[in-house]
Amino acid sequence: MSCSEVIEVPTAMEIFKLLPKKNCGECKFPTCLAFAMQLANQKAKLEDCPYVSDQAKATLAASAAPPIRLVKIGTGSNAIEVGDETELYRHEKKFFHPTAYALIISDSSSDDEIKAKVEKAHSLRFERVGQLLKMDMIGIKNDSGNAERFAAVAEKVSKMTDLPMILVSDKPDAMKLAASKIAAKVPLLHGANLSNAEAMAAVAKETKCPLVVYEDTSLNQLADLVAKVKTAGVEDIVLDFGAKTLKDLIEKSTIIRKISVKKIFRGLGYPIFVYAGEGERAILRGLISTMKYGSIVAFDDIDPATALPLYVLRQNIYTDPQVPIQVKPDLYAINNPNEKSPLLFTTNFSLTYFTVVGDIEKSKIPVWLQVIDTEGLSVMTAFAAGKLTPEMVAKALEASGAKNKSKRGEIIIPGMVARMSSKLQELTGLKVIVGPKESSGLPKLLKSLE
Ligand code: SF4
Repeated sequence: MSCSEVIEVPTAMEIFKLLPKKNCGECKFPTCLAFAMQLANQKAKLEDCPYVSDQAKATLAASAAPPIRLVKIGTGSNAIEVGDETELYRHEKKFFHPTAYALIISDSSSDDEIKAKVEKAHSLRFERVGQLLKMDMIGIKNDSGNAERFAAVAEKVSKMTDLPMILVSDKPDAMKLAASKIAAKVPLLHGANLSNAEAMAAVAKETKCPLVVYEDTSLNQLADLVAKVKTAGVEDIVLDFGAKTLKDLIEKSTIIRKISVKKIFRGLGYPIFVYAGEGERAILRGLISTMKYGSIVAFDDIDPATALPLYVLRQNIYTDPQVPIQVKPDLYAINNPNEKSPLLFTTNFSLTYFTVVGDIEKSKIPVWLQVIDTEGLSVMTAFAAGKLTPEMVAKALEASGAKNKSKRGEIIIPGMVARMSSKLQELTGLKVIVGPKESSGLPKLLKSLE
């Protein structure tokens, strides 16, 4: 790898000297020095200060660029962004752009098989804690070796889906024809290798599509190939180092992330593409790539029972560890309640809320559910931290008018906070019914109250 690609990151003091020194706080940091320190650590962006001079921008531009380039694929609301990561470990701040999953379709497939595969990609979606988890991309692979067939299948599939697409062929002529048909959808082109780099770079440049650079012998060779493609005028690059084993996958992904974000080595500062294949090995590659820096993982096939845990892993890794996922504190009507329906409360931690709602919905019994603002903490944690008190519950019930909606004169509280019963009764005038410790017990309790 060329040392000229390693950027010398300026120190906080060097950056500070170039800042306007207004200490106005508009960058969300109290002083210019604090902002300079965050910039030096790649934890802030230069454009967050509206007063930086053009001269300072030019001086700091190279070091201010993200260590891993942001690459956009597709258009519209389904377009995906990969890269632009700044951390080696999630807990240091957060990971920003979730791993995108792709389902690959062979252009040797029959029309029925192609249709079924597109439908499968669309159907691999689940809702969890209020978020939609789904397959993000569809790829077309040029197994037929025929340029016209490849282009025809790409065009056909592009009309069947709004998902961003990947075109997979090592033949520049086939790629050129297929990419020209669907260039408006900005597909990812996979890809350039040692023998076709110039021609593939020309296709990517002409169609303005991002390009995967593939090289499986060594990371040095991969960096050289990236440099070649960049010289040819392609900026939006994705790396595929063709991992042969799981060890290879973890090792090389980690090296790439580490030298990109810690050494600011631009030569490999790009998102990573991983071909997973199908079967058990594919799921292992998918799981590892989700945990260890994969930006796009492509499957030949994947079933719903495998996709769900993979999606959930991704969801957990790409949530902000410092901000619990929350729902809006409010009074929620579940199963069309009326004034005879029971009143319950829970907290605004998403996982708690959706578990409780799921159990109530299962019971099919109409219920008013008051959600208390506990800053996203679960019932027990919030209670222990003093963020779920009888006073707060009483205040929330008052603000939402819950007592006018449910006129039973009673409230069901989580079994975990039975200790607040008498105080809550005193504050609200409602009869307190202590519910189960787990929300799975709610259907039984609700039925007993009917
Ligand atoms: Fe300084 Fe700019 Fe931040 Fe204001 S916005 S405190 S001038 S760095």
